[in-house]
Amino acid sequence: MPFNRRQFLLLGGALGGLGLSVAAQKWAASQGSSLPADRPLDLNEYSQSSPESSPESNLESSPTASSPTASTDPLNPPRGDVRIVVISDLNSQYGSTDYEIEVDNAIARIPTWQPDLVLCGGDMVAGQQPSLTRSEIEAMWAAFDQHVSAPLRKANIPYGFTLGNHDASSAQAINGGLLFGTERELASAYWNDPLHDPGLQFVDRAKFPFYYTFQKKDVFFLSWDASSAQISAEQLAWVEQSLSSPAAKAAKLRIVVGHLPLYGIAIGRDDAGEYLENAEGLRSLLERHQVHTYVSGHDHAYYPGHKGDLELLHCGILGAGVRPLLNGDLSPRKTLTIVDVDLAAARTLYTTLDATTLELVNQQELPKLIASPGGKVLRRDVVWEDLTPAEQAIEYAPRG
Ligand SMILES: [Zn+2]
Repeated sequence: MPFNRRQFLLLGGALGGLGLSVAAQKWAASQGSSLPADRPLDLNEYSQSSPESSPESNLESSPTASSPTASTDPLNPPRGDVRIVVISDLNSQYGSTDYEIEVDNAIARIPTWQPDLVLCGGDMVAGQQPSLTRSEIEAMWAAFDQHVSAPLRKANIPYGFTLGNHDASSAQAINGGLLFGTERELASAYWNDPLHDPGLQFVDRAKFPFYYTFQKKDVFFLSWDASSAQISAEQLAWVEQSLSSPAAKAAKLRIVVGHLPLYGIAIGRDDAGEYLENAEGLRSLLERHQVHTYVSGHDHAYYPGHKGDLELLHCGILGAGVRPLLNGDLSPRKTLTIVDVDLAAARTLYTTLDATTLELVNQQELPKLIASPGGKVLRRDVVWEDLTPAEQAIEYAPRG
């Protein structure tokens, strides 16, 4: 069921008149009527941006005929062919066996959206601390199970994820050994326990939970081990092979998820080691295999971007430690994103909520561009030509 901007414009009009929730009214009011008529409203996160449509063809393509019959509740958006709730960075301080209220609230609310999948950008527990004992690490995974995994299993919602630096860092010591080998061993033990079956339709689980592939309704997912800045040559060979596989090629959409982003977009996440090495080479690899979106965590800041032909979903955070973006002056906040996939059009629609207030996050409030140390990432509804010369001239500058 394809939705386009025209339909969302209609939907927005309907919302304005229906007297829905306070959040909805606030949101509708925030859309205003001052945008140029030839520039359709981008209601909340709804964007048609896709690799196929950017940058040349822009976003205002081909209106479609179907009518907006789905829900007009912004907290329960029109459902796509595949619905994914994307969450990330759940942990609190080192060694913690507790979770912040936003994590528990999100997990409690997720079943009401009836997603086909929950996708997590990593940092599910609070490791990467050499002093943690085996029993302390096991206690963290038990707490994760209690707060996150068990409720989703009970609701029969599959859980796809990538491991973060706090779950199972792949960082190496000078002598080449793993710095956090015990954490990796125990993360693997947790995930390979049949009691903790994430309910995924695996394509290749030989290296699960570190890197693996699965599918859901014509969407092919690849989770790679981006728990440190380096992705090994062995793993890259596997990525090539996996994205060339019949299952990947037959899928209508391909999504890759990894903890570290390709580009550091948040303050304090713009140092080498906080984002993947050789981002341009990795992006080229993903583009060559027509990967639609790279989903990442770690930055603790929500930013729906694109660079080249690749969409970049920088997940917001549910746990502790929100961070501001490198550009703009927005107050940081915790978020989660509902991604509705239109398979026929190979498009994704985002509905992002403030995880504390449940208000919608208006994409238009986010900066049009983030000048990261690795290059400029544009907001996903923005193309280069949309920017003023002054905006185009913005360069990376360390802050904080
Ligand atoms: Zn992290």
